[in-house]
Amino acid sequence: ERLVGASADGEDQAVEAALRPTSLGEFVGQERVREQLDLVLKAARARGATADHVLLSGAPGLGKTTLSMIIAAEMNAPIRITSGPAIQHAGDLAAILSSLQEGEVLFLDEIHRMSRPAEEMLYMAMEDFRVDVIVGKGPGATAIPLELPPFTLVGATTRAGLLPPPLRDRFGFTGHMEFYESAELERVLHRSARLLELEIDAEGAAEIAGRSRGTPRIANRLLRRVRDYAQVKADGRITREVAAMALKVYEVDSRGLDRLDRAVLHALLKLFAGGPVGLSTLAVAVGEERETVEEVAEPFLVREGLLARTPRGRIATPAAWSHLGLVPPPQTPG
Ligand code: ADP
Repeated sequence: ERLVGASADGEDQAVEAALRPTSLGEFVGQERVREQLDLVLKAARARGATADHVLLSGAPGLGKTTLSMIIAAEMNAPIRITSGPAIQHAGDLAAILSSLQEGEVLFLDEIHRMSRPAEEMLYMAMEDFRVDVIVGKGPGATAIPLELPPFTLVGATTRAGLLPPPLRDRFGFTGHMEFYESAELERVLHRSARLLELEIDAEGAAEIAGRSRGTPRIANRLLRRVRDYAQVKADGRITREVAAMALKVYEVDSRGLDRLDRAVLHALLKLFAGGPVGLSTLAVAVGEERETVEEVAEPFLVREGLLARTPRGRIATPAAWSHLGLVPPPQTPG
């Protein structure tokens, strides 16, 4: 597991429950989504109705699960949490849907990874609060309609564009979660530090925030590693210096690049003069699989404007040269 990976590891899962904001007011950043969601929930409450289905799109670790829990809390409703890959058969979904209480929030993470038959069952459940349970097989099979209590589906996906339009259209509200600004991550870090009873100053928080890739989950994880360092090597207080030294030990640099990211950039600059170079060649040069370079390292390098994918191959941007402290070779004419 990478220290700067956005998916939750075992330790994250154990600690995150304690760090989750429990109301919209406590949820940092995402102003637009927060404001819109606030209206949706207030209106539903005023009507005494169940809230509309909500689709949340955005990268892992930006707070989709947290928001779904907040929706349930704000609606004073229980919540059930599951995920697309966990629903293999339509029957799995029927079992979950038929056991929901009135007004319950069903959080379906990675909703784009649900099986086709389950997806079709979900259409009807979302629209009419009804499912057809198929009993028997072959020509003798019959569909028994089953009424469901009204519920609120909160679907989460990395990209709304991954969803088939008929599914996307059945959500009353779609919130697009953005990466967080450094100042927002600093607020997340101060809040987490308070909950974990850690002492951190403004500069210490800024230092960690700048390396957190715009992602609260990563910020909270780096905070825990810096805490370890502060407790063992310093007096426990997290200052800029302590944070920088700790993250140097863990090989997370000032922009949040880790060893793999830097190895890819380094090879691109030193061995291929900044490119263009093909993905396979670049992967061999860093001793990694193609997929690892393409799926693990590149997305963040592209997002940071350090590397570009072109039809002729990968190229480094001027920012890549300056980030690694190297000077680009002079342009050869022609
Ligand atoms: P996702 O479901 O998008 O992968 P999570 O909701 O599990 O992300 O959030 C990951 C962690 O980051 C949680 O521990 C949560 O406390 C924290 N977090 C996410 N968004 C925020 C936020 N806006 N404010 C404070 N903490 C947040």
